[in-house]
Amino acid sequence: MQFKELVGQSVLKENLIRIVRENRLSHALLFQGEYGYGSLGLALALSQYIFCQSPNENDACGTCASCIKTQKLAHPDLHFAFPVNSADGSSTKVGSDDFLVQWREQIQENVYFDLKQWNEKIGIEKKQSLIKVDDSKAIMKKLSLKSFEAKHKVLIIWAADKMNGEAANRLLKLIEEPSEDTLIILISDNEEQILQTIRSRTQVVRVPPIQEGIIEAALEARFDLAEERATQIARQAEGNMIRAERLLNRQEEDDLFFNLFTEWMRACYEANVERMYKWVEEISSASYGREKQKRFLVYVLDQMREGILRNYGGDQLQHYFGKEDQFMKKFSPFIIAENILEINELINEAHYHIERNAYAKIVFMDMSMQFANLLRAKNRKFVS
Ligand SMILES: [Zn+2]
Repeated sequence: MQFKELVGQSVLKENLIRIVRENRLSHALLFQGEYGYGSLGLALALSQYIFCQSPNENDACGTCASCIKTQKLAHPDLHFAFPVNSADGSSTKVGSDDFLVQWREQIQENVYFDLKQWNEKIGIEKKQSLIKVDDSKAIMKKLSLKSFEAKHKVLIIWAADKMNGEAANRLLKLIEEPSEDTLIILISDNEEQILQTIRSRTQVVRVPPIQEGIIEAALEARFDLAEERATQIARQAEGNMIRAERLLNRQEEDDLFFNLFTEWMRACYEANVERMYKWVEEISSASYGREKQKRFLVYVLDQMREGILRNYGGDQLQHYFGKEDQFMKKFSPFIIAENILEINELINEAHYHIERNAYAKIVFMDMSMQFANLLRAKNRKFVS
């Protein structure tokens, strides 16, 4: 990874390059900051810069043999340790090396990721991942070898705060007795959790949030976003690329849910069985898993709540804009005291059944029929 591939952080990039060029690099660095600020990418770019056979003033060359190997995360002098665990809860000992394939895949897909995403990647969403002592043994062994190709060996320890005590103590020894040609880069978003004795022997590199304007430009370029939308997301992202991407996904889903919801309510209001059936086919199709169906139901619940608030809470309570506001203006008169309780109950029940693996087609079709009755409880015309 080259520095230029990372979003923002120009001051830090320049500083890191200067330190390498002036030969002032400490033997242990601690990159501290939220993962979405880009600490792992910076550590990788720094490693590539150190390995590069013809680095220039701003970046590694990107074309020499060392650069190519580093880009593939296959440089023989680049080592990794990161938290892992076995997926099946068995006591089988697993270490970072058992997950190198997933690790490389994750970085190639997107270098901005956090521990939650990593745990998902290795299939242990519901468990803790750790850097264990066996891992540190393997690391010691690797680092005791002479470097293969470069002048330096680099060890990147990602989520270093997830080392267990024993592993941390072994690492401490390594840092206390540094070998000249080894650079250890610890990365953490929670430095307080790292042994003070380790921290005090590292040079701390504070990775700051990415500037809002830079996130905005990156979103526009990477995701082909309209300026207005990119501005909005960049503002909420607080300098964090992971948060920006998450907001982006959520917004996409909100758009989808809005279309789905409006079509559903129109079909129900018309009591048009054919239209309802078509809609039910759509939401029960393979592109909607159980989790997505559940999120949709929560979205519907929010819409209903907005509807009733508009009717009884007055204008100051509304917080919808644009097309959602347009739709809600026409729709809210149908959400009234006489039906809101039943509507809420229906949605909650559906959520319960979907969660317990009920047949989605039946749940949604049944709901549609009931909504058709409830929406027409008051004899008003809902103009779609
Ligand atoms: Zn190079």
